[in-house]
Amino acid sequence: ADEPAQEFKAPVLCILGHVDTGKTKLLDKIRHTNVQTGEAGGITQQIGATNFPDYALRELIAKLPNMKIDIQIPGLLIIDTPGHESFSNLRSRGSSLCNIGILVVDIMHGLEPQTLESLEMLRKRNIPFIVALNKIDRMYGWKPMQDEAFFTTFNQQDENARDEFMRRARETVIAFAEKGLNAALYYENPDPEEYISLVPTSAITGEGIPDLLGLIVDITQTRLNKFIKYSPQLRATVLEVKVIEGLGTTIDVILANGEINEDDTIVVAGFEGPICTNIRALLTPQPLREMRVKGEYQHHKSIRATAGVKISAQGLDHAMSGSQLLVAESEDVIPYLMEEVQKDVAQIFSSINQKGKGVHVQASTVGSLEALLEFLKESKIPVSSINIGPVFKKDVMKAQSQIEKGNKKQYATVLAFDVKVHQEAVEYAETNGVKIFTADIIYHLFDQFTKYVEDVKR
Ligand code: GDP
Ligand code: MG
Repeated sequence: ADEPAQEFKAPVLCILGHVDTGKTKLLDKIRHTNVQTGEAGGITQQIGATNFPDYALRELIAKLPNMKIDIQIPGLLIIDTPGHESFSNLRSRGSSLCNIGILVVDIMHGLEPQTLESLEMLRKRNIPFIVALNKIDRMYGWKPMQDEAFFTTFNQQDENARDEFMRRARETVIAFAEKGLNAALYYENPDPEEYISLVPTSAITGEGIPDLLGLIVDITQTRLNKFIKYSPQLRATVLEVKVIEGLGTTIDVILANGEINEDDTIVVAGFEGPICTNIRALLTPQPLREMRVKGEYQHHKSIRATAGVKISAQGLDHAMSGSQLLVAESEDVIPYLMEEVQKDVAQIFSSINQKGKGVHVQASTVGSLEALLEFLKESKIPVSSINIGPVFKKDVMKAQSQIEKGNKKQYATVLAFDVKVHQEAVEYAETNGVKIFTADIIYHLFDQFTKYVEDVKR
């Protein structure tokens, strides 16, 4: 009979949170957690993700004094780039491919603007999540115990450090309550469906990481078990589009369900219309042990979910990150698949003001553009045009047309999210009365624009 582990796929895990809360550090710590090396299926770097296998989870969970978890999932696929953008790009057919999230909160700072932004994104897409209440090692007088479970270290802290921790944890719970959300320290959580679980961690000392991953395993296997079953139905998304020397333009894909094979005919959305092409190579990074093997990548005939994979193929130059990836089983279905992938894009365009009034918005990917547009809609800031990629003079000219049309002065604005602005565009804007605001945090753009609107009124 099949092992139960074989019916589950590795859940996809995303990390979100305010800047400087420790998202990157936490990822690094998790990836370098001490585990026996050389075991088959060790922690492997994938494209855009890290595979944290079941045996590594088992080793961590063994450190938990009060938790017994029978691990049935084959591991976790942890998305490597934390934040909004990769989270928004992880989607297919209107739903997110992220199975569970970790929202990182700095225990010294509590809830911050981007924490709320992330909360909103998670809730909108119905993604279950837990909170890493990070930087506990910064409590006054804290004596770290490397990589230990929270209770193990908490019990040996002196009273002052314990009191300070309890006080700050309580403050965080109150801050959540002020936003209308129930939260509790995970080991006191009366109802995980109602209350957000807070897991105390330190990304520097590794304390609490066994608890964090233990809880993730527990939630995915119990509450979410029907969402993490392996199914042959393909679910895949383009996380990034990258030019690689010797390979040309490639796409980095997260395969959340099903299987992809070399020579498959794939369909993805593109800026110049849908793209249909044949896979030339299915690639993953070389395992560490085989670094000396020639070539940077390992080739595969076939890859099964859950995985991060680089696809090399012709014609990917204008592929869109955030697009779903479909496989055509036969020639006949290609036109339907092309229509399907382009639908997502059409939906984004539908949020543009029909009367042509509003700011010009530009973002790095479909996912981040979508997140930004959603936010602007809620903030009642109209949008007249959009684009993806770096800002050029032609983009500034779109904003400039607001002046010519006699629309409000403040609409002659480019809101640029996480993209480069070319010098030529900057100069053109300066001489033609167009404002360009850039930021890599959505609410910063909003703040700049709102302040500008106030200034214009004065
Ligand atoms: P990100 O912006 O959320 O990715 O945050 P980073 O991972 O870059 O961390 C921001 C800063 O906080 C860095 O200086 C980290 O070294 C520090 N930091 C992150 N996690 C911890 C922690 O658990 N304890 C302490 N003391 N510092 C931390
Ligand atoms: Mg970071």
